[in-house]
Amino acid sequence: MKSENITKVDFGITQEMFELRNKHKGACIWLTGLSASGKSTIAKALLKELFVFGCQTKVLDGDNIRHGLCSDLGFSEEDRTENIRRIAEVAKLFVQSGTIIICAFISPYRKDRDFARNIMPEGRFFEVYLNCDIEVCKQRDPKNLYKNAQAGLIKGFTGIDSPYEAPLNPEIELFSATNSVEVSASIIIDNLRSKNILIGI
Ligand code: ADP
Repeated sequence: MKSENITKVDFGITQEMFELRNKHKGACIWLTGLSASGKSTIAKALLKELFVFGCQTKVLDGDNIRHGLCSDLGFSEEDRTENIRRIAEVAKLFVQSGTIIICAFISPYRKDRDFARNIMPEGRFFEVYLNCDIEVCKQRDPKNLYKNAQAGLIKGFTGIDSPYEAPLNPEIELFSATNSVEVSASIIIDNLRSKNILIGI
């Protein structure tokens, strides 16, 4: 049952105050792409660079979140949508505290990514499409997931028997089959600079 009689409390320290202290703005970097397209690998490289710059930053990553916040959810369309809804709401809290939050999730449905975009403060959502040929993903297959999906051991696997809806108008498109991890991370950093997210860094 939905809760009633709820009033939001203002705790006094605003997003702008966090951002002034952090010397950068809060933002959500949303990495989307097929399994093995490089989301976790690029998230790790980006996190390290931002950390070294002195940014407040954090990664939310698919497998880690499914061990905790979303451990009750599976991979049906409904559960995938709820998974992304919860993550987006958490990511928004981080943005409001002036953090650069990096989200690494297949997030195969356009409507779910649009939900995340629409709840974020204006101009603070960066959809990053890891455009990587599925044949390259299958060859990488670091967790043998494609092998198992093709053998019928995993049902509803994105790109095999479950759809992936590529972004139509992402802020950033990375060709992660050909770009190195370092190049991918630096393209994101350059974009954050050009959009004045890293104002004092
Ligand atoms: P995802 O999080 O999208 O499932 P991972 O980052 O877990 O993908 O796996 C991608 C795999 O591809 C890793 O083993 C990574 O080392 C490898 N890889 C090879 N070349 C690249 C590249 N140019 N960009 C990103 N990942 C790469």
